[in-house]
Amino acid sequence: MVDYIGVSDVARLIQSVGAGTFIERLAAEIELDYRRWSEFEKSARLASHSDVGVIELMPTSDGRLYSFKYVNGHPKNTAAGLLTVTAFGVLADVATGYPLLLSELTVTTALRTAAMSALAAKWMARKDSRVMALIGNGAQSEFQAIAFHRMLGIRELRLFDVDPLASAKLERNLRAMPELSDLSITRASSTSEACRGADILTTVTADKRNAVILTPPMVRPGMHLNAVGGDCPGKTELHADVLRMPGARVVVEYEPQSRIEGEIQQMEAQFPVTEFADVCSGKTPARTSPEQITIFDSVGFALEDYSALHFLHKLTKEQRHAARQIDLVPVLEDPKDLFGGTLGGGTARARLRKTA
Ligand code: NAD
Repeated sequence: MVDYIGVSDVARLIQSVGAGTFIERLAAEIELDYRRWSEFEKSARLASHSDVGVIELMPTSDGRLYSFKYVNGHPKNTAAGLLTVTAFGVLADVATGYPLLLSELTVTTALRTAAMSALAAKWMARKDSRVMALIGNGAQSEFQAIAFHRMLGIRELRLFDVDPLASAKLERNLRAMPELSDLSITRASSTSEACRGADILTTVTADKRNAVILTPPMVRPGMHLNAVGGDCPGKTELHADVLRMPGARVVVEYEPQSRIEGEIQQMEAQFPVTEFADVCSGKTPARTSPEQITIFDSVGFALEDYSALHFLHKLTKEQRHAARQIDLVPVLEDPKDLFGGTLGGGTARARLRKTA
């Protein structure tokens, strides 16, 4: 039998620990895993593109556990009442190749993306950052707000979305959370207005084109940019000149993947970037002065999903919140008798049911 965590299980788990705590603990797990970067198998994700979106597979392994995520990105889906991003994933035992866990990863991707954004900002943003502009107020946005409030001490949030209903939804959801009672929330009438005077600019928009959400006049010395929505070839959010701003430091997750999918796809192959593993291991400082502009060019890397699956699995055990079990793999008395133990005679099937 294989453990199964569905959307309702994740929702129950997160309600029991609190979204902020969950994100903070997950960020700590992601950080620990990035610190053992060399132990992980790494590859750019395998993407299948269409005119309207992308479907991707994201595998990795540390030699003990193997994980993969299936994830899509379809920005036009919301017009049809569907999510832009959905995902599920598997954690497996390398020693036997057996799957240990099949889990929903749609909600979990939003949590892990927010955890990763806040973790990167913890290393890159000025410590006195209190004001964040949040551009793009769709499915990911609450998670980003909770993570930055919890982990960075953000106390003022400025929202902008081309869809005012999305900003209204975000404001309503955040105001309903007692733990965010000290968070001031205002809605801006443009991206420029939201960015003016902010310490951190988070862009989490969805549009399958080279969008220009941030331009150099919106970016001031000392700001940290958390660019989340540009994560596919031909899908970016920053004007290329933002990346070229004097002294700007660009941090990516896994350079070969980010060169294809990140904001840096707009730059020449030699454009200098730093991998986050070098930052969180202390090898390369992300920020060298309060005036420096720092940019986290986020696309999402398989290691973060490994951390999320591993953490979810541990949490279900720790909380005694037993994951459900599904018969994804046959349990047989005789492993050479797959036929008999599954499709064969009644006794064999009865045995299979009893063992399961
Ligand atoms: P969503 O469709 O629910 O929300 C996107 C929002 O962006 C919408 O409300 C839309 O109106 C708004 N928007 C579009 N163009 C805009 C513009 N020019 N200015 C302001 N707002 C604009 O999507 P989502 O699930 O919240 O995902 C947002 C983005 O994040 C997607 O592009 C997705 O692919 C990406 N993403 C990245 C990671 C990562 O690890 N980097 C993980 C998950 C999702």
